[in-house]
Amino acid sequence: MFLAKMNYLEVQEYLKKSDTIVIPVGSLENHGKHMPLGTDTMIPDKIAEFLDQKSDLLIAPTINYGATDDLVGFPGTVSLGVEGLISLLRTICDQLYKYGFRHFMILNGHGGNSASIQAVGMHLYRKGAYLANLNWWLMAGQINPDWAGGHGGGEETAGVMAVDPSLIKYEYINLPEGIRNDVSEELPSGAWTNVNFKGIPIAIPREIKDITDNGWLAHAFKNDAPTKATPEWGTEMLQTVADFIAEFGEAFGRSSLPEVQE
Ligand SMILES: [Zn+2]
Repeated sequence: MFLAKMNYLEVQEYLKKSDTIVIPVGSLENHGKHMPLGTDTMIPDKIAEFLDQKSDLLIAPTINYGATDDLVGFPGTVSLGVEGLISLLRTICDQLYKYGFRHFMILNGHGGNSASIQAVGMHLYRKGAYLANLNWWLMAGQINPDWAGGHGGGEETAGVMAVDPSLIKYEYINLPEGIRNDVSEELPSGAWTNVNFKGIPIAIPREIKDITDNGWLAHAFKNDAPTKATPEWGTEMLQTVADFIAEFGEAFGRSSLPEVQE
C-alpha cells in the first residue's frame, strides 16, 4: 500500500494492526555515461512496486535526493549532504512517529545515504522506535554473489533495465571507467575514494570527478561490467530483494521496541 494513495482514515485503520512503514530513499547522481541520474531512486521505486504486490506493508513516498557529495561536479548531480539528509529524514520520521509508527524500514538505494540513515536510526532508537536500513544492492549481492557489483556496474545496470531498458545509453555501455591516479602515481586510485599503498587501501575523501571522467566505479568487484547486465537479471534480482524485504518486514514488525530514553 502506498501512503500517498490512501486517505487518513485508511492510515488510522492500518495503525490499528501495524506500526511499520517503509521509506525508500534514493539520490540524484552520476552513474556513468550509460546510466540515468535517477538510478538510485528508480531501483528502490521498482522494488517498492514489487513489494506492494507481495505484502501489506505501508510504503511512504520516496525521497528522491540523497547525500552524494562525492558525485557533485557531474552536471545534474544534486546532494543534500549528510546533514541535509539527516534533517529531512528525521523530520519525516518524527512526524510519522507522532501518529504511532515505531518500526521504520528504509529501502536505501545509495551507499552515501547510510551515514545519515544510521544517525536517524539512533535518534529513533532513543525515542523507543527501531529503524532498519535495507541497502538493496548489498542484500542482492548476499542473496546471490553473482549479482554483486559496484557503482554503475552490472548490478545497477541490470536494475535499471528492470525499470526500463530504454533508460540505458547503449552507445556508452562499453566505455571503461577511465580511472586516473589523481593523488599521485605512488598512491594509485583504488575502490571509490581509496588509494592503495603497499596493497592496503587508504580513504582520501575527494570528488569522484578527480578520479574518473566517466563516473561508474566498479573496479573493486572482480569482473564487474555494465555490459553483463540483462533485463532478466534485473527483474529476477529486484523481485527477489522485494520478497526478502516482505519477509523481513514481518519479523521486524513483531519485534518488541526499545525503551524510551528521552
Ligand atoms: Zn547507485
